Amino acid sequence: MRLVFLGPPGSGKGTQAKILAGKKGLKHISTGDVLREAIKNGTELGRKAKQFMDAGELVPDDIILGMIKEILQKNKDGFIFDGFPRTAAQAEALDKLMAGLSITLDAAVNLAVNDAEVLNRLTGRFFCSKCGADFNINTRPPRESGICDKCGGELKQRDDDKTEVIANRLRVYREKTKPVEDYYRSRNVLKNVDGARSFDEVTASIIGILG
Ligand SMILES: [Zn+2]
Repeated sequence: MRLVFLGPPGSGKGTQAKILAGKKGLKHISTGDVLREAIKNGTELGRKAKQFMDAGELVPDDIILGMIKEILQKNKDGFIFDGFPRTAAQAEALDKLMAGLSITLDAAVNLAVNDAEVLNRLTGRFFCSKCGADFNINTRPPRESGICDKCGGELKQRDDDKTEVIANRLRVYREKTKPVEDYYRSRNVLKNVDGARSFDEVTASIIGILG
């Protein structure tokens, strides 16, 4: 099975992709891992990518695609892409790479979670300023509001989890990935899954859709 997973931050996409990969014996491919591995192994593409990252620049598409190609060649029978493609141009490039290996994508699974739900999930995260324990006011609330269960320390929010930062990340995500969804819809491989349910229900529904 050859799959792409799409979904906004907070949709649980990465964890769902890992679980499905484990159940179905597929290679889980996240671009972050691909980059880190290429850099760690000192491959030619890894060295090039590191130069851009050290300069604080985005790694260009041709380098990312080169790494994706190497991974595809080794795992062409079954994989899940997680966090790639991020643009319609990358989606098209991926199709071309796959055509070169005489393989096709079975499905692009889109974990649909609306903005209000994403905001609710991500802005609910708090951590203890003393011991670092994680809490979520929606799913794992502390016994006493604002106080760590373990050490009594004060709970704080990461800057990344503040409403305006998340709203902005979400806006960027929607702008970039809407065309990716449209692309896969036009190829008849887009499968929407309602991601605003319990984690296990979402897993079951993904497995049901893929058969
Ligand atoms: Zn604590």
